[in-house]
Amino acid sequence: MKQLSNKISATLKKLRKKHGLSLDATSQKTGVSKAMLGQIERGESSPTISTLWKIATGFKVSFSSFLIESNREKTQKGKQIQMKSDKEMKVIPIFPFEAETSMEIFIIEIASKCSRTSLPHNTGVIEHIIVIKGEMEVLVGKSWHKLIKNEGLRFDASRVHGYRNLSSKKAIFHNIIHYL
Ligand code: MN
Repeated sequence: MKQLSNKISATLKKLRKKHGLSLDATSQKTGVSKAMLGQIERGESSPTISTLWKIATGFKVSFSSFLIESNREKTQKGKQIQMKSDKEMKVIPIFPFEAETSMEIFIIEIASKCSRTSLPHNTGVIEHIIVIKGEMEVLVGKSWHKLIKNEGLRFDASRVHGYRNLSSKKAIFHNIIHYL
């Protein structure tokens, strides 16, 4: 976990420097408070998944650019990157972003009766959702699409989108994100 927060802090500092942005300007760009950004950079706080998504989206970079590089060929169970846990949603990066494939692949668990919306990603970003356990709904623009186990949905993620689980059991899905 310490290693992960070091990597997040270093990546944020590097991005901010590259764009020549103050903490204030970064806060405006990402929608994350200046105090929180400062804590993350100093390694005093490790961001929640939704905060990290806001930062990645604000800087137009992949989510996993903040994570430690994993084995490129095989990700073994138990050796996955441990994200800060979240009661509603657990994100397990299986293949962090790679330039050669322009993809990042996650397993995401969403608790019963939980809902998350995501900010639009850059133009050209496509998400592929495949449900592997339970059932859930995916929001694309203004419509929710119901998916059961083994069903998939591919959509333009440069629009407002989200995930919700109205059922009484946990749902698990793959999220394959393709960047242009
Ligand atoms: Mn998304």
